[in-house]
Amino acid sequence: MQDLERKALAVLKKFYGYDTFYPMQYQVIEHVVNGNDAVVLMPTGGGKSLCYQIPALLMPGCSIIVSPLLALMKDQVDALIANGVPAAAINSQQSEQQNRDVLDNVFKQNIKLLYISPERLLADMDQWSKEMLINMIAIDEAHCISHWGHDFRPEYSQLSLVKERFPGVPILALTATADRLTRIDIKEQLNIPDAKIFINSFDRPNISLNVVSGLSGRAKIKRIVSFIEKHHGESGIIYCLSRKSTETMAASLQSLGIDAHAFHAGMSTDIKLRVQQDFINDDLQVICATIAFGMGIDKSNVRWIIHSNMPKNIESYYQEIGRAGRDGMKADALMFYSFGDVKTLMSFAHDSGQAMINVEKLNRMQQYAEATVCRRRILLSYFNERYDHDCGNCDVCNNPPDKIDGTTLCQMALSAMARTQESVGFMTLIDILRGSRKSEIIAKGYDKLKTYGVGHDLTQAMWNAYLLQMLQLGLIYIAYEEDDHLKSTAFGREVLYGKRKIQLSRFYYNLPTKKKPAKSTFPIDVEHDVDEVLLSKLKDVRRALAKAKGIPPYMVFSDKVLTIMAQEKPVTKAQFGTLYGVAEAKTEQYWRQFTTVIKEHI
Ligand code: ADP
Ligand code: ZN
Repeated sequence: MQDLERKALAVLKKFYGYDTFYPMQYQVIEHVVNGNDAVVLMPTGGGKSLCYQIPALLMPGCSIIVSPLLALMKDQVDALIANGVPAAAINSQQSEQQNRDVLDNVFKQNIKLLYISPERLLADMDQWSKEMLINMIAIDEAHCISHWGHDFRPEYSQLSLVKERFPGVPILALTATADRLTRIDIKEQLNIPDAKIFINSFDRPNISLNVVSGLSGRAKIKRIVSFIEKHHGESGIIYCLSRKSTETMAASLQSLGIDAHAFHAGMSTDIKLRVQQDFINDDLQVICATIAFGMGIDKSNVRWIIHSNMPKNIESYYQEIGRAGRDGMKADALMFYSFGDVKTLMSFAHDSGQAMINVEKLNRMQQYAEATVCRRRILLSYFNERYDHDCGNCDVCNNPPDKIDGTTLCQMALSAMARTQESVGFMTLIDILRGSRKSEIIAKGYDKLKTYGVGHDLTQAMWNAYLLQMLQLGLIYIAYEEDDHLKSTAFGREVLYGKRKIQLSRFYYNLPTKKKPAKSTFPIDVEHDVDEVLLSKLKDVRRALAKAKGIPPYMVFSDKVLTIMAQEKPVTKAQFGTLYGVAEAKTEQYWRQFTTVIKEHI
């Protein structure tokens, strides 16, 4: 093992209580400590924070973390301080005096991590002197810099100046949502052409994916209530399309005895803060929110997410469900879908100023909602990730449609694409496969292709459905920057050359009635046979400690750490200190309270 790796592992144990790195974390750390730029793409919960926090702790000087979300900044600073790491923030929520004090401490080299908003960095950075010893600049939520992303922020667009201002200081861009185009854009916009891209799997296998279509009004509420009853006492978020619907949803649930509250941008700051705080502190079970909620919080024990309507694109959907189960324990996502949603969203998309992109993104979302193939496969191929098996933890997998061997069909389509040099879109491809006599087809000479008409015995609707499945399975993708032409992926080429077989869901004009759902086969990494009585006592201790410290319970310890504690039952300080997720600073502060309760219990 290299010296650097040994040091990094020691820091990981001391400040976080973990023994091993998550996939890719160490590679990023090494790359950055050696002075190189990087773009890191990892899903929510993938462990991005450690990718910059550990280099910051390994290098002399101070690391700058650019973040657009003030609440999240505070959260991260609090969590770092709780672990014994000197961190601070500069932003508009603090007084100028506070900001000056922070900067002063940076000069004195008392701060290892400085969180700052982009506008503040851009305004201040020219006045910063050499004594600050800036050793790295991390840019969190880096997709905000791209127009292709779903969350473009104008204040991010000036960040290209950072590289000019700090030549030689490594830049680390991080995001949880990046499709192929956003990825390219981040490098360009940040002026870091040589940055290495680190892509982790975007899979979140612990989140089960479910879609229910066609319910509305009372039937939907009934379904939501029974879902929440199954998640007794567990925190969750219900996303609604409008401010008004968050309020009516919350009122309906309250009237049925559920501990719920609305949250939206139209509420006063005081109330918003209180609702958010209650949720974070496990004092409020359910939040009914517009998408604005959740961006700024790190709560790791959100156990479920409901979308009361279909979201406007897959990026938003994936980011929103990603707020559940960050601690790696089992979580559930449930989405409701109706044609009414599509109509509303379609009119938003048309008025959005970027109608073309947004309508296309909406179409992909709708296809997900109506899918007949494993939903996780669809999501991951949307993010250009290869995932070539069914997940066993979504409603399609648990209630599978009839399958056919689709290898030959896929080969027909892939071969026709190849023979046009991949220069056609969906409709033209279907025309070629079915041997259409349309004048454009003849004019382009497509009727001379060897694959012309090979698929004539399938209807247009059937080809439509099967090509859609090929897209969803990741055999082909749509090149939006090239007139929406279809392109084969590496996986698609393997099928074309006969190296892989492909199963497709049989096309029906009318869907057959569904079979009885099977049980989920998702394996979780923490055993479920924990001592529930002890676990609930430990949660009480956690809650009391959190109240006393003025931090949220999950910041004392995550659900996962408590679950492991309830299994391992440490009774000495030494045993407590070696537990997963227990950092040195926390051993000192908490061992007595937790081990006392454990001893009494046994
Ligand atoms: P992201 O910012 O990518 O959403 P975080 O950095 O918040 O993810 O990490 C998610 C959770 O995983 C946190 O609770 C964090 O403490 C935990 N975590 C990160 N790295 C490790 C690791 N190497 N071992 C165990 N837990 C980790
Ligand atoms: Zn699945």
